[in-house]
Amino acid sequence: MAAVLDTKVQFVKGIGPARARQLARLDIATVRDLLFHVPRRWLDRSASPPIGDLKPGQEVTVFARVLAAGGRRMRNFRQMSSCVLADDSGAIEAFWFNRPDLKDLLRPGTELMVSGKVTAWRGRPRFTNPQFETVEPGGEASGVHAVVPVYPLTEGLSTWALRRAVRDALDRFGRELPETLTRETLDHYGFPGVRDALEAVHFPKSVKDALRARERLAYDELLYLELVLALRHRRHAELHRGRPLPGTGRLTGRFRELTGFEFTRAQERVITEIAADMASERGMNRLLQGDVGSGKTVVALYAMLVAVESGCQAALMAPTEILARQHFGGWHDRLRELGVETRLLTGSTRPTARAETLAGLESGQVQLVFGTHALIEAGVRFDQLGLVVVDEQHRFGVMQRAALMNKGENPDFLVMTATPIPRTLTLTVYGDLDVSVLDEKPPGRKEVVTRLVPESRRDRVYGYIEERLGRGEAVFFVCPLIEQSEKLDVASAVETSERVAATFPRRRVGLVHGRMRAEERDAAMDSLRRGELDILVSTTVIEVGVDIPRATVMVVEQPERFGLAQLHQLRGRIGRGDRRAVCVLMMPREPEGETGERLQFFGRTTDGFLLAEKDIELRGPGELLGTRQHGLPDLRVADIVRDGELLRRARRDAFRLVELDPGLVLPGHRRVRATLDERYHGREELLKVG
Ligand code: ADP
Ligand code: MG
Repeated sequence: MAAVLDTKVQFVKGIGPARARQLARLDIATVRDLLFHVPRRWLDRSASPPIGDLKPGQEVTVFARVLAAGGRRMRNFRQMSSCVLADDSGAIEAFWFNRPDLKDLLRPGTELMVSGKVTAWRGRPRFTNPQFETVEPGGEASGVHAVVPVYPLTEGLSTWALRRAVRDALDRFGRELPETLTRETLDHYGFPGVRDALEAVHFPKSVKDALRARERLAYDELLYLELVLALRHRRHAELHRGRPLPGTGRLTGRFRELTGFEFTRAQERVITEIAADMASERGMNRLLQGDVGSGKTVVALYAMLVAVESGCQAALMAPTEILARQHFGGWHDRLRELGVETRLLTGSTRPTARAETLAGLESGQVQLVFGTHALIEAGVRFDQLGLVVVDEQHRFGVMQRAALMNKGENPDFLVMTATPIPRTLTLTVYGDLDVSVLDEKPPGRKEVVTRLVPESRRDRVYGYIEERLGRGEAVFFVCPLIEQSEKLDVASAVETSERVAATFPRRRVGLVHGRMRAEERDAAMDSLRRGELDILVSTTVIEVGVDIPRATVMVVEQPERFGLAQLHQLRGRIGRGDRRAVCVLMMPREPEGETGERLQFFGRTTDGFLLAEKDIELRGPGELLGTRQHGLPDLRVADIVRDGELLRRARRDAFRLVELDPGLVLPGHRRVRATLDERYHGREELLKVG
C-alpha cells in the first residue's frame, strides 16, 4: 500500500545525510512529507518586468543573473555587499548591509529571483536590501518551465535542490500515491487527481494550474480534518444520549422578569439553540462564546433553570474562587426569590456549610451549585445532575471537565468563553462542538476609549489619573510578560509598582503577579473592588471576567509586547461600570511599521472577534491552532486564514457525508474510509466510526 510513502527521505536518490538534516528542519522526514511540501506561491518569469524598464518606487520581483559581486567595509563599520544584476534588457545594482554571508551566494553567473522596492541613488534605480533566492537557469534550452515555485525554505537549501529531490521522489514513488478523493468530488470541483496535482504544484505549466492543484491538496486535508470532527460530533451525540430536559417555562418565565432587562436578540437566539439541544435526547456539547459583558452568565443561568424545571440539578464551575463568587453573588438573591435552592462550593467553604451543601446535592434538595475545582472532589455527589456549565474552559484540563461530567449520567454540557475564538478555529480545533455566539452587547454599554500615548506625555497621563482617582475611581497598570521569564516579569511589575507608588504618594497601590498564590491575587482584586486599593499594578495575570465597576483607567506598559487578543482581554477588565473608561497604551517610541499598524487597529476596534482574526492574520495560526495537541491531523498545505472559504466547503461536505453514511460503508465511500484508516492507523480511538 502507500506505506512506501513513509520511506525516509534519505532513501530518495541524491539525498545524503546533510540534505536530510536540512529537510528535517522543514519537518520533512518521509517521502510523503517531501511531496506535500508545497510552494507558497508561484511566479511567472514571463510576467516579471524587464530590468531595463525598472523605475524607482516600484515593488517588483525580477529574474536576473549575477554579473559581478563585491563588498566593502564602510566608515561607520557597517559592512556592505553589492552586486550587479542583469537580464537581456539591462542591469541594476543591488546593495545589502551587514550580510557577510552573501559573499558565497552572490557568485557571478548565479541566477536569482529578486524581490523588493526599487530605490534611487543619484537618479539611478537600485535595490537596497532586497529579498532574493537562487533559481534554476531559465529559458527554453534548459527545459525549465516559465513558472517558478516559491517554497518555504531553510538555510542552505535552495529551491533548485529541493525540486530535484521532489522530482526524484515523484518519479520513483508517484505511482504509489493512492487517490484520496472520490470520483464524484473530483468531478464536482473539477480537481486534478492527487498525482497530477503534485506534479502541477512542483512543476507547473502555468500559475493557474498550480493554484488549482494547490486548492485540491488543501481541500483534501481540510476534508479529512472535518471528517474526523464530523465523526466525533456524531459519536458524542450518540454515546451521550441523556434524558431530554424540555423545561416548562415555570422558572425561566419569572427569571426573565427578575433580570429587569430585555434579553438581546443574540441572547434570545442562543437561548433557543441551547434549549433545543437540552430538549432533545441527544447530549448537548456546546460552546458559548461572547465577549466580556455580552451577557453569557445570564444565558447560562437560564439554561440551568431549564434543567431545574425539568427535574434535574445544574452545576457551574469557574476557574477561580473570585469568579465563582461573582457568578453566585450576583444572582443568588433572585434565585432565592424563584424558590431555587442555590449554593456556593469552593476551597474556602467552611466545613459545616460544605457538609450541608454536599448532603443537599446528594439528596437533590440543592438544585443549583456554583463553584470551583472543589466541585469535582470525590465527596461531591449529585442526585440528578442534568447540566454542567464550565466557565473559561481553557483554564481546565480535559480530565477536570470529564470528572464533573461523570457526576451525572450524560449531563448536557455547556462551555463558556470570553476569549474570542476566530471562526476559522471554531471550524477546526473546536469543530466537534456546536457553537453559539453572543455577538451583540446589551444596550447602553459605553465602549472603552483607547489612546496611544507617547512616552513623552506620561506626565499628562498621570495628571489625568490623579483626576479620576480623585473621583473615587480605580486604575490598573499592566506590565508585559518579559521573554517568558516569570522572574523578570515579577521584577518589572515590582519596579513599576514602586514607581507608581512614588508618583502617587497619597494613594494605596497594590501589586499582583504570577509568583503569588491565586488566593492572594483574588484578595488584591477584591481590595480594589471594595475601594481599599486605588491602583493595582499587575502582570498579565489579572483575572478574566472579574467585575470591578470602579476600575475606569488602564495603563498598558510596552503594549507592543502583547498580542491583540491578549490586549483585548486586558481592556475588558475596565469599563464595567457606567463611567467612561479609558485604556492608555504607553508607546515607548512613535508607533511605526507593523507594530504601529497593529496597535492602531486595536485603538479603533473593540470587536474581540475582529481582533482575534487580525491576530491570526498577523502572527499566524500556529500557536492558536495546535491541531496535533487536539488529536487532529496537521495541515501542511491548507492555511486556515487564506483558505477560509475552502474550509467552509470541506466542512459542509464532510458533515453531509457523515450524515448520509455514518459508517462510511457505501461503495462510493470506500476510498474515503480507506484513507481515514490509513491516516489514523494506530490512532483509531480518535475516530471510533461505525
Ligand atoms: P459576561 O458573562 O458575558 O461577561 P454577564 O452575563 O456577566 O456578561 O453580563 C454583564 C452585565 O450585563 C451583567 O451586569 C448583566 O446583568 C448585564 N446584562 C446581561 N444581559 C443584559 C441585557 N440583555 N440587557 C441589559 N443588561 C444585561
Ligand atoms: Mg461572565
